[in-house]
Amino acid sequence: MGTIFVLSAPSGTGKTTICERLIKSLPNLKMSISHTTRKPRIGERDGVDYFFVDREVFETMIKNNDFVEWAEVYGNFYGTSKKVINELFQSGNDVLLDIDIQGAKNIKKTYPDSVLIFILPPSLEELEKRLKQRKEEIDTIKMRLNKVKEEISQYKIYDYLVINDDLDKAVKEILCIITAEKLKTNKVNQQIINNF
Ligand code: 5GP
Repeated sequence: MGTIFVLSAPSGTGKTTICERLIKSLPNLKMSISHTTRKPRIGERDGVDYFFVDREVFETMIKNNDFVEWAEVYGNFYGTSKKVINELFQSGNDVLLDIDIQGAKNIKKTYPDSVLIFILPPSLEELEKRLKQRKEEIDTIKMRLNKVKEEISQYKIYDYLVINDDLDKAVKEILCIITAEKLKTNKVNQQIINNF
């Protein structure tokens, strides 16, 4: 069975670029597309960035037990669908999840073998600078910085901590984590051992 790799990072940490690089480098690693009630941002596409659904659909999915985990983040609902994960596993893939800390905790409960990676910006000052460059509202910036402080205080639920002070270095470090995890004896395909 494939492995789930969870990446959590405060917005402005470069997580989207990191995910794109990882997916390009590892053909068997696929992004799980979450469902959300958030409205699409400019350039976002349904079924590519998220499955954009309304609240009613999302609530029906919760009732039908369709999610491995779901959470409310900044007033919107986000969830990881069981069907999406199962289909990726069935086609022989590992799965990359870009979800928040609540989701990470719940994934670990359902999939104890999952690997949780937390990405940090070099400093809170640097993060604030990046958020300002993205022209986020001042209240949004404050809210996000507070959330980061709260998340950092819980960093021990993650298996790995990567600091993105240099994008190439951060991507390399995560690739090393993934490679090492896939070589663990309990993850090695039994067929390989049987050939000896
Ligand atoms: P954004 O709206 O900026 O795309 O995402 C906001 C936050 O929601 C990010 O921290 C992202 O990691 C998180 N998120 C995205 N999808 C999911 C999901 O399926 N489950 C959970 N728990 N969080 C998610």
